[in-house]
Amino acid sequence: MKKYNFSAGPAILPAPVLKEAAKAVKDFDGMGLSILEISHRSKQFVAVLDEAVASVKELLDLNDDWAVLWLTGGASSQFFMTAMNLLPQGEKAAYVNTGTWSTKAIKEAKLFGEVEEIASSKDQNFNYIPKYKSPKDAVYLHLTSNNTIFGTQIKKFPNDAPPIVCDMSSDIFSRPLEIEKFGLIYAGAQKNLGPAGTTLVIVRKDLLGKVERQIPTMLDYKTHIAKDSSFNTPPCYPIYVSMLTLRWIKKNGGLEAMQRKNKSKAKLIYDEIDRNPLFEGFTAKKDRSLMNATFNMAEGHADKADAFVAACNAAGCVGIKGHRSVGGFRASIYNAMPRNGVKALVEVMQEFEKKHG
Ligand SMILES: *Cc1c(COP(=O)(O)O)cnc(C)c1O
Repeated sequence: MKKYNFSAGPAILPAPVLKEAAKAVKDFDGMGLSILEISHRSKQFVAVLDEAVASVKELLDLNDDWAVLWLTGGASSQFFMTAMNLLPQGEKAAYVNTGTWSTKAIKEAKLFGEVEEIASSKDQNFNYIPKYKSPKDAVYLHLTSNNTIFGTQIKKFPNDAPPIVCDMSSDIFSRPLEIEKFGLIYAGAQKNLGPAGTTLVIVRKDLLGKVERQIPTMLDYKTHIAKDSSFNTPPCYPIYVSMLTLRWIKKNGGLEAMQRKNKSKAKLIYDEIDRNPLFEGFTAKKDRSLMNATFNMAEGHADKADAFVAACNAAGCVGIKGHRSVGGFRASIYNAMPRNGVKALVEVMQEFEKKHG
């Protein structure tokens, strides 16, 4: 039985993407070779890379002021690379702390300059998005657009802020963006884009070259811009699969269509969480993530948590257990999760109520 994968990441990919990706492992593009064994300098792979970059530019409406990079090291390496490349000594960057990932980004940025945490929701275990005033004297404002672990999401990005540097690992390409507000966007591929192994970085080129510190070659965005992400061997297969996902997004109506579907899927699951007396959400309703729906057993029903996970698994809805730091449940319903998958989960919740309510 094909299961519905609700894992937070590595996560579900669109079925047609997996099919095409499997085919390319056997024989890529009629070459008689696997995508896994061809040169990153071959014209066939260069075409993959070119299409991946062009699709990102098309979907986000990027002009030539922007560079699109496919790097390694995960989103976690961007926590320090962003500050290393963008934050000059003696200047300040502003960070909003909305969870585990923001906390890590703040820690790493502090290695390179002054970091002001302008707001935090730590006081309530990050179950809401805090209010903040955009500082005028910061070089950039760092935000985490979607908090994968806690299940909150920034719905609106501020006007009149310094360029936003944004960790979009778990909601990139889930909705249209006002790109002019941003200076740099990064995303590990393994949540909403592709397999683990590549990190997408989109950067406004005029923000680079302003720091005086020495940057190791591999950690300097300019290196990868100059060599079109092929200074060294890029993560070819993750880039290929990400390219297939981008193709799938375009074929399925682009970012507006993704957003529409994501909203309707999220409504299905949140409506059930709110209706079903056995369950309860724990994030502020206005900040609820369209990508990671977190919830708990309602008060008095905590003893049924293991039985619920078992019921989900038995129905083919896997990966529901919440992150170890918050507990409870988390249904990750990224772009690739079909509406039928969310329906299947809602049915499990309803059956569970009949049996245990
Ligand atoms: C998963 C995740 C990360 C960490 O990504 P890695 O690629 O494992 O380093 C960072 N930020 C967010 C928002 C994430 O969801």
